[in-house]
Amino acid sequence: MILVLEPNTLPESADYRMLIAQLERLPKVDFRVHREVGSEVTLTEIYLIGNTGTLTVEQMQVLPGVAKVVRVSEAYRVLGRHKQGDDRPSSFEYNGVRFGQDSLNVFAGLCAVDSSESVDAMMKALRDRGQVCTRMGAYKPRTSPYAFQGFGAQCLPYVFELAGKHGIRVIAMEITHESHVDEIRAALAQTGNPTGVMLQIGTRNTQNFELLKQVGKQQEFPVLIKRGFGITLDESLNAAEYLATEGNRKIVFCLRGMKTNMGDPHRNFVDFAHVPVVKRLTRMPVGIDPSHSVGTRARAPDGLLDIFHVVAQGVIAGANMILVDFHPDPARALVDGPQALLMSELSHFLDDVALARETYERRAALARQRVAAA
Ligand code: PEP
Ligand code: MN
Repeated sequence: MILVLEPNTLPESADYRMLIAQLERLPKVDFRVHREVGSEVTLTEIYLIGNTGTLTVEQMQVLPGVAKVVRVSEAYRVLGRHKQGDDRPSSFEYNGVRFGQDSLNVFAGLCAVDSSESVDAMMKALRDRGQVCTRMGAYKPRTSPYAFQGFGAQCLPYVFELAGKHGIRVIAMEITHESHVDEIRAALAQTGNPTGVMLQIGTRNTQNFELLKQVGKQQEFPVLIKRGFGITLDESLNAAEYLATEGNRKIVFCLRGMKTNMGDPHRNFVDFAHVPVVKRLTRMPVGIDPSHSVGTRARAPDGLLDIFHVVAQGVIAGANMILVDFHPDPARALVDGPQALLMSELSHFLDDVALARETYERRAALARQRVAAA
């Protein structure tokens, strides 16, 4: 059971103190307080765990400071959409950028940072198209120990400085160890915090529970968690729940294709049909990664790359984020060159995304009309 308190309830207030005193008296019921400090309001949720079966919504509703009571009906206690009266937020803001189940953010960028020239060229192209988000890989989990592992902490200062120069507000960056969070924080401080970072948990680490707990404990950086490529959707959503239950609710869930040869000739089996499913089961914005799903620059007879086609499929189904690989010179990219889009394709890509998004918005409006009329 979740008690949603009146907005801006202060821990020092009489209501809050009375409420806590009453909760402490409930037999065999433990509780955990989560406070989400936003730019305008502070929201407080209290999660009751243990013997809550005997408590009624009516009884809890009248406790001091309680605005709403939500009976937890689904497995994802924190992130789930629960049946009764659950209108908890499905969006968050970070560094001036809004992420929600109703918005769309494009994170075009380098799979792996390989030089400051590539970073500069990429960010300049994004700025010219009014983009404020990007992807930049510094810590790369690689299949072979002999492959390039990413420049790690060494490249962070110039990546962050260039982001500041080009007005980039959020960089999605994979981390593979909790120490990388400290390295990112230190490099941001050293360069005067010119940008923001969304920590990415890659598909290979989706069930690295200790990493999830550490990343979930900090609330400074939002998190982009990839679906595990060889586990069920339920297992991946529980992985996201690990982050949330530790305190970090600023989470985007990203589909990136499943490992099976049933998806051949694509690198992974594209799973973007799950965009609306994840939005229905949870309150997380849902991203798609067409690059790691498709893995090639194959082109259909209509002139569109397979990557463009799957992006349109995800966006038309309501995707909220696109994480996509570009490179100024894919032949010389150190990681995943064969799937990178060219800088000259950025404008076409963004125009194609806008078309699909417009269609999605019209589809959603039509559905709302039909539901209202019924
Ligand atoms: C990536 O986005 O660079 C990446 C390695 O993705 P994934 O974890 O989905 O393979
Ligand atoms: Mn990659």
